[in-house]
Amino acid sequence: MHSLILKPGREKSLQRRHPWIFSGGIARVDGNPQAGDTVEVRTADGVPRAIAAYSPQSQIRARIWNWTPCPIDADFFAQRIAQAAARREPLRSGGVTNAVRLIHGESDGLPGVVADRYEDTVVVQLLTTGAERWREAIADALAALAGVVRVVERSDADVRQLEGLPSQTGLLRGAAATGPVMITEHGLQFAIDVVSGHKTGFYLDQRDNRQRLRALVAGNSVLDCFCYTGGFAINALAGGASAVTAIDSSGPALQAAQANAALNRLNGTEWLEADVFQSLRKFRDAGRSFDVIVLDPPKFAPTAAHAEKAARAYKDINLLAFKLLNPGGTLMTYSCSGGVSAELFQKIIAGAALDAGVDAVIEAWLHGAADHPVALNFPEGEYLKGLICRTNITTAV
Ligand code: SAH
Repeated sequence: MHSLILKPGREKSLQRRHPWIFSGGIARVDGNPQAGDTVEVRTADGVPRAIAAYSPQSQIRARIWNWTPCPIDADFFAQRIAQAAARREPLRSGGVTNAVRLIHGESDGLPGVVADRYEDTVVVQLLTTGAERWREAIADALAALAGVVRVVERSDADVRQLEGLPSQTGLLRGAAATGPVMITEHGLQFAIDVVSGHKTGFYLDQRDNRQRLRALVAGNSVLDCFCYTGGFAINALAGGASAVTAIDSSGPALQAAQANAALNRLNGTEWLEADVFQSLRKFRDAGRSFDVIVLDPPKFAPTAAHAEKAARAYKDINLLAFKLLNPGGTLMTYSCSGGVSAELFQKIIAGAALDAGVDAVIEAWLHGAADHPVALNFPEGEYLKGLICRTNITTAV
């Protein structure tokens, strides 16, 4: 078998069970592995420590499939995928939702594999050379799960470029759906476009946070920024908000949002197709204000290298949002940037409040839903963080 031999001392990350081998830690490659091939990872003195997928173009030169050498074959994927799916079963069978993240990459022992299940449809993203190599085995294992009738591929994420992989989408198993896939989430219905929606079609990681908003808004005016297909806005209406304004720059997303609102017979949202950075400034200049504001922007910093620029963008929208809040108002603010830690995010929000001249407290720290677990040996898996901040709770003396 092909082997990667680590430089002396570079087995430390393996001892911590970190699943990535960086190119700088490799002394030499024995054999002639091609992209996606299975390689044994050995310490400098030749001891096998793990079995991994080789990625010659990426700085992350190998990703670990297993900590002890074992056959990497169709059975391996069938077993890992069945285990990951079984862990999500209580969420599906408990009536919370019929849409779950089945596989969350490294945190489910399957680097580069992401799969979301919408009712009977699984949408998979194969993001690395190793995942790419095992496309057919992964598709078979997903199609074999009880109740799954089709598997759709959406490997059109930018990260594939870092692996030297082109974008790839299409039907892998079963017959194409004739329309959107209908899902239920905490009692609300959403129509999911798995073919042209963002990512796999929906942002399942925000499921519980959307419900949390529902509990905060009775009688309040709500502004949902970066609303996509209406997840937070529709929950705000369901929670008895007195008025909801929702903004997104994507026309198709807003059309889907309106259809979702109608599906739940929750009308009355003001849907705006616009840039959030500009809209917040317009609202400020027009003297508009809200009781609750949600900020759920796209990933401004995919990696730590983008953190500084991203920090400015987060500060900008959060500062404006603090200014637009009525006294005693609530800001629910998120970052899904892997390159911005929860600690840095909190500092940015503190700076935004200070510069907006607003006193605020944090009422809750929020994260992704339980079907997006974070392996303790893989802290990079923690990408979604959020805060609920309430302003001006003290009166001047
Ligand atoms: N809150 C949503 C998910 C938001 S995803 C949910 O719960 O489902 C981020 C959204 O931001 C996308 O829909 C994208 O179209 C939108 N977006 C990106 N940049 C934007 C900008 N500058 N102004 C407005 N919307 C933007």
